[in-house]
Amino acid sequence: MAGIEFVFESRKKEEDTAMPKHIGVYPGTFDPITRGHLDIIERGLKLFDLLIVAVAESHSKAPLFDAPERLDIIRHELKYYKNIRVESFNCLLIDYMKKKKATTVLRGLRVISDFEYEFQMALINRKLDQGTETVFMMTSENYAAVSSRFIKEIARLGGDVTAFVTPYVAKRLKEKFDGNFAG
Ligand code: ADP
Repeated sequence: MAGIEFVFESRKKEEDTAMPKHIGVYPGTFDPITRGHLDIIERGLKLFDLLIVAVAESHSKAPLFDAPERLDIIRHELKYYKNIRVESFNCLLIDYMKKKKATTVLRGLRVISDFEYEFQMALINRKLDQGTETVFMMTSENYAAVSSRFIKEIARLGGDVTAFVTPYVAKRLKEKFDGNFAG
C-alpha cells in the first residue's frame, strides 16, 4: 500500500513540475517581429513559467506577411529559447487565454501614444474576463522608435533595416519586396 502511495506521490510531483504554473500570453500582429518585440519577449520570459507568443491573424490590418509566414519567422527567431511557444489565434484573446489556461497578457509600451490604446484594450479584456491581468513592459530605450509599420516602409523603399530587425527578418523583407516588385 505504501508502495502504491509512493508511486502515486512521485507521479503527482512529476505532473506538477511538468505542468507550467504561470502562463503568459504575448499577443500581437508581429508583421514582422522586430528587435523591440524580441526584447520584450526576452525580458518577459523571466516573469512566466511558459510564455506563448500568440500571433493574431489580423486580416483587417492586411498584413504584409500572412499568419503562417509570421509564425515561421518568429519560430526561426526563437528556436533557441526554452519555455516559449509560438502559435496563431483567430478568436477573442480572452477565449484563447482560457483555452491555454493563461492568466496574464504581456504587452509592450513604447511611447505615450501606445498608452491609450493599450489601456483601453486591457480594460476591455478585464471587463470580458475578470481573471485576466495585463502586464506592461517598458521598451528598452534603444527600441522606443522601432515599429513594424516603419520598418516595412523603409524596407519597401530599399533602406537598411538591420538596426531594427534581425538579419533573417531583413532577408525575408527583402524577398517579399523584391518578389512584389518583380510581380
Ligand atoms: P498589435 O497589432 O497587437 O499592436 P504589434 O505587433 O504591433 O501588434 O505589437 C505587439 C505588442 O508589442 C504591443 O503591445 C506593442 O506595443 C509592443 N511593441 C511593438 N513594438 C515594440 C517596441 N519597439 N518596444 C516595445 N514594445 C513594442
